[in-house]
Amino acid sequence: MTQTKIITHWINGALDTGKTERTSEVFNPATGQVSANVALANVATVDKAVTAASDAFVSWRHSSLTKRTQVLFAFRELVLQNKEKIAALITAEHGKVLSDAAGEVTRGLEVVEFACGIPHLLKGGFSEEVSTGVDVYSIRQPLGPVAIISPFNFPAMVPMWFFPIAIACGNTVVLKPSEKDPSAAMLLAELWKEAGLPDGVFNVVHGDKESVDALLTHPGIKSVSFVGSTPIAKYVYETGTKHGKRVQALGGAKNHMVVLPDSDLELAADAAINAGFGSAGERCMAISAIVAVEPIANALVAKIKSRMADIKTGDGTKGSDMGPLVTKVHRDKVASYIEAGERAGATLVEDGRKVKVDGDGFFLGPTLFDNVTPDMSIYKEEIFGPVLSILRANTYDEALSLVNSHPYGNGTAIFTNDGGAARRFQNEVEVGMVGINVPIPVPMAYFSFGGWKNSLFGDTHAHGTEGVHFFTRGKVVTSRWLDPSHGGINLGFPQNS
Ligand code: NAD
Repeated sequence: MTQTKIITHWINGALDTGKTERTSEVFNPATGQVSANVALANVATVDKAVTAASDAFVSWRHSSLTKRTQVLFAFRELVLQNKEKIAALITAEHGKVLSDAAGEVTRGLEVVEFACGIPHLLKGGFSEEVSTGVDVYSIRQPLGPVAIISPFNFPAMVPMWFFPIAIACGNTVVLKPSEKDPSAAMLLAELWKEAGLPDGVFNVVHGDKESVDALLTHPGIKSVSFVGSTPIAKYVYETGTKHGKRVQALGGAKNHMVVLPDSDLELAADAAINAGFGSAGERCMAISAIVAVEPIANALVAKIKSRMADIKTGDGTKGSDMGPLVTKVHRDKVASYIEAGERAGATLVEDGRKVKVDGDGFFLGPTLFDNVTPDMSIYKEEIFGPVLSILRANTYDEALSLVNSHPYGNGTAIFTNDGGAARRFQNEVEVGMVGINVPIPVPMAYFSFGGWKNSLFGDTHAHGTEGVHFFTRGKVVTSRWLDPSHGGINLGFPQNS
């Protein structure tokens, strides 16, 4: 009998050899088979990783900016060279199609490239002669060991929103990736070592609530960057801040796409397909509610429905358009929302439960509901699957009010050919990331990523200059150096009388 592989932690530049008390199964969602068991860290293992990060911080914080950028550039090259390998690991554990997995690595790489500019980003300010002989200047210094806790849906990109900048700023890292797809993080750890990052600067512990709690309460951890569902984000924010840590906790989403009557309906229908069903809807920026402003709803529904027939659901390594959901439990939960939508009276235009794929994979086809109303659970709650809901509004104001009344505020999009309408929307909508004729407006690495309301707890978004700000603390120095004529070393200056 072959033994199932055990994925263990990465601590101080090596695989952890400590005893594993608890493990969790990792599946290939396309086959439904267990591919590995991942070790779940206990308090002692988390402490070992934080100790390694604390020890490494002593010298890493003093590494020159030149040294840091050299390591970052080397890491960038290695990730680029290994892009397909990382993508294959992601597809094997998450299920998303290979092209999508490679796209996720590209978006993560953009943050590494941004972090390569750290010497410029860390420059402080200087004011000369604020008083006679007095200068004031500001510097930004690293925090220490920082924790990153990430979700299953972007096992490479989401950790990469944070760790390149954290490390570039002189911090050391303990990453706790999702236990559902832990392998991408392990390869990234190996690539850091190959790039010349000193041992202990980047550590990976796998685990569940026990390891998260150990990080949130560990006195050695100075900040927590969390991404996941809203209830856990809120818990992480409250617990982390109670223990004196700086916390940014990004939560769930329910992203609306408003389609105005003057929009290009072909463009809007293409966008709905890509943003609704890409990665099987398991994206925090996926569109899950479309608000069609009349009189175009019937036409839009027909165009989306006809495109759905072309979506091939299947194994992400075999040329499909949409892969499986991450676990059987999650697949069944998403399917239960389809039942709930039907029970609540929404019109089921396409039923993903009818899609059959050979084998035991966790598949569910693309699903479309029309005539969805705000009281229905399929609208109120985050489904995180390939289920798109159409709501009908009579006016722009009605559509805007729907978006603004929703407790989530991660991303949104408006489709229109009226620049004035788009401009009003960008100003009036209470959402952190807005697309104009762009359905998934994920900010580039040099801007910052983050939602409003229940989609983010804390006030700092991810990456961009906000990322640099999060991973450093400011210090302002007020200095008075007396003129050499006041004594000290005799450099030939005339003495003051
Ligand atoms: P999740 O909240 O279940 O898990 C996220 C992390 O928290 C994982 O590392 C997990 O191990 C840990 N965790 C789970 N339960 C915990 C508990 N009880 N106590 C402490 N830690 C716990 O989220 P997920 O299912 O992995 O990811 C999907 C969710 O993430 C969706 O809600 C999605 O919208 C959200 N997400 C948000 C963003 C964003 O930028 N806002 C980005 C990606 C994903």
